[in-house]
Amino acid sequence: MVENVVIIGSGPAGWSAAIYASRANLQPVLFEGTLKPEMMPLGQLALTTEVENFAGFPAGNLRAFVESAVDASRHYNLPPVPKGHERDGQPHYAVQGVELMELMKQQALNFGTRVIGDDIVDVDFDHRPLKVIPAEEAPVETHTVIVATGARANYLGLPSEEKFKNRGVSACAVCDGALPRFRNKPLAVVGGGDSAVEEATYLTAFASKVFLIHRRDELRASKIMQRRALENPKIEMVWSHVVDEVLGNDQDGVTGLRLKSTKDDAPRELEVAGMFASIGHTPNTAFLRGKLEMNEKGYLKWTSPFRTLTSVEGVFAAGDVADDYYRQAITSAGTGCMAALDAERYLAAQEK
Ligand SMILES: Cc1cc2nc3c(=O)[nH]c(=O)nc-3n(C[C@H](O)[C@H](O)[C@H](O)COP(=O)(O)OP(=O)(O)OC[C@H]3O[C@@H](n4cnc5c(N)ncnc54)[C@H](O)[C@@H]3O)c2cc1C
Repeated sequence: MVENVVIIGSGPAGWSAAIYASRANLQPVLFEGTLKPEMMPLGQLALTTEVENFAGFPAGNLRAFVESAVDASRHYNLPPVPKGHERDGQPHYAVQGVELMELMKQQALNFGTRVIGDDIVDVDFDHRPLKVIPAEEAPVETHTVIVATGARANYLGLPSEEKFKNRGVSACAVCDGALPRFRNKPLAVVGGGDSAVEEATYLTAFASKVFLIHRRDELRASKIMQRRALENPKIEMVWSHVVDEVLGNDQDGVTGLRLKSTKDDAPRELEVAGMFASIGHTPNTAFLRGKLEMNEKGYLKWTSPFRTLTSVEGVFAAGDVADDYYRQAITSAGTGCMAALDAERYLAAQEK
């Protein structure tokens, strides 16, 4: 049997593509990516707590809706309602990353998407039909493929950093900067490229002060971005230092950072309420090397403006895997929709 559409990835891009493709009666098969440790079933949003910027999910009594909408067998995935989430005596609750993703998954299942908990480890795009090869299941032949495998934020790799993820450690200022825990507090950004400067500048809107910590004594960022950082009175450069440990406690989360000089190893402590790692992302495209055109950072290339087409006919790319610029859940969902429509039109043109 040759499938119409195989979707690789279970983040916002994958589920949105699945919702559109299954609603168009294409009976898509979606590979979730669950086996290897670097996989993230339900995508990167499953790593975060409150999502305040996905349109359609204002804070309120969302939890009751989520529980009634998601199949009871998957409620174990849903975090408990945090205590004290009330405002003016009414439930006040922002959707959690996992809940949003479970809702997307349920919506795709409702229209008949078939979900396989396996990783794709190889593909054959040289022959027709196309072929995707999972780690454990049998290879699947298909007329179209939508790659929605995302990109992983790079972290420093410290155990203390892991411990305080979602409690002061983040890798996305646009996603988390406006959260109450960071408002009017000193924060730190780690990195030296354009995105580190962008994140630091963005955070100055909320923070009392932003330390930009860089291992060298000059930024890698473009000249204009460097000027932006150096001239911003709320940004203080911390040159020639690396983070040795994230400091904090169970109650407050992050309270500071222990740094080490890259010149003479001298220790230094900074009092901050948050640390934003801004040291790049790794797109999940290793299994596609040599099979699809990529840019120098390994992101898939869209070969046509405002379309999700890749260098191979019938293969489409959606979400962060093809976008190293916006990297948001809503933009990923948007391009997931586009990829499904592109696949549907391709199939119609081929009379498949
Ligand atoms: C901590 C954190 C907080 C964030 N907060 C926000 C926020 O508040 N608002 C916002 O808009 N954005 C936020 N983001 C960004 C947002 O999560 C991403 O932009 C979005 O998830 C990208 O969606 P995607 O579908 O492209 O990829 P991802 O969500 O990265 O999903 C990729 C999927 O592909 C799967 N996969 C990878 N390789 C394979 C393979 N070989 N075979 C099968 N499956 C595979 C993975 O398991 C995963 O399911 C946050 C990100 C992080 C890390």
